[in-house]
Amino acid sequence: MQVPAHVEYERAASVAHALSLLSRPETRVVAGGHSLIPMMKLRLAQPELLVDINGLAELAFIVLDAGQLRIGALARHADLLESEVAGECFPIFHDAERVVADPIVRLWGTVGGSLCQADPSEDLSAAFAAARATAVIRGPDGERAVPVREFHLGPYQTVVGRGELLAEIRVPVRPGTGSAYQKVSRRVGDWSIAAAGAVLTMSGGRIQEAGIGLTAVGAEHFVAAEAEEFLRGRAAGGDVFARAGAIAARGCQPAADQRGPEDFKRHLVAELTTRALRRAAERAAAA
Ligand SMILES: Cc1cc2nc3c(=O)[nH]c(=O)nc-3n(C[C@H](O)[C@H](O)[C@H](O)COP(=O)(O)OP(=O)(O)OC[C@H]3O[C@@H](n4cnc5c(N)ncnc54)[C@H](O)[C@@H]3O)c2cc1C
Repeated sequence: MQVPAHVEYERAASVAHALSLLSRPETRVVAGGHSLIPMMKLRLAQPELLVDINGLAELAFIVLDAGQLRIGALARHADLLESEVAGECFPIFHDAERVVADPIVRLWGTVGGSLCQADPSEDLSAAFAAARATAVIRGPDGERAVPVREFHLGPYQTVVGRGELLAEIRVPVRPGTGSAYQKVSRRVGDWSIAAAGAVLTMSGGRIQEAGIGLTAVGAEHFVAAEAEEFLRGRAAGGDVFARAGAIAARGCQPAADQRGPEDFKRHLVAELTTRALRRAAERAAAA
């Protein structure tokens, strides 16, 4: 089936207007449409009403504000890739955006759509999890903040409820922090076979806080929690990052599929986690 079912369409004029439209049953937000429209064509999604949020300029921003990087849900992948302030605070986002799909998808696909799609292969879900970001959700009763590590309930499922909208993502900026993202895919622009993101906050040569996000390998909440725990308080030398990579590889649950067998994916997780951690530590030292 290549044609979507009949669907009503409304263009939201404000966030309040979007929220009132979203209170109706069987309603979906459409942002970039790069994931939702193909799903509708395949009849994997059959909303009765589409609420187009592309006119909501108030959701399209990337700013540094009171020690947080704030990214509006309607910021495009290309906006994040081009944002100097994002690149300075969190090179992990530039690393990740460089390998999200191709320029056409990046020009239209949004940061919010990427998180809300909750595809286990979305690169930004792991990157935001590594950075311990917070999702800000708006609904009829106001605003609530949810750690990104609690945002995804499972594949294609999030905590965003009926009548709600993801409005922005906030990432705490800490001094002495470096970050990086490493991905392997079958060809340029393809989804990950596996990928790893690392965010390290260093103090006096020791790891104060570590965030490790994993993409497409069945990591709970996109996170390698045991490897993070192992790193906390350790000196960033010797084979510490390789040991963390091995822990991350043991802790995830990759599925064998057309992108490769399980052992290959675990090998990639070990290697990519190690490399991302090394790069993050170099960047923290240079920060
Ligand atoms: C060919 C191709 C290759 C791709 N490759 C990659 C890749 O390598 N890595 C990667 O990470 N991604 C990849 N993507 C996905 C891309 O990142 C999309 O931009 C992303 O999945 C969805 O963003 P969107 O704005 O298009 O969302 P949409 O398709 O508009 O929406 C997706 C879902 O999120 C919901 N939604 C959107 N915005 C909000 C909001 N603000 N609040 C609540 N719900 C919302 C929608 O209702 C829908 O359920 C690829 C996509 C394509 C088409």
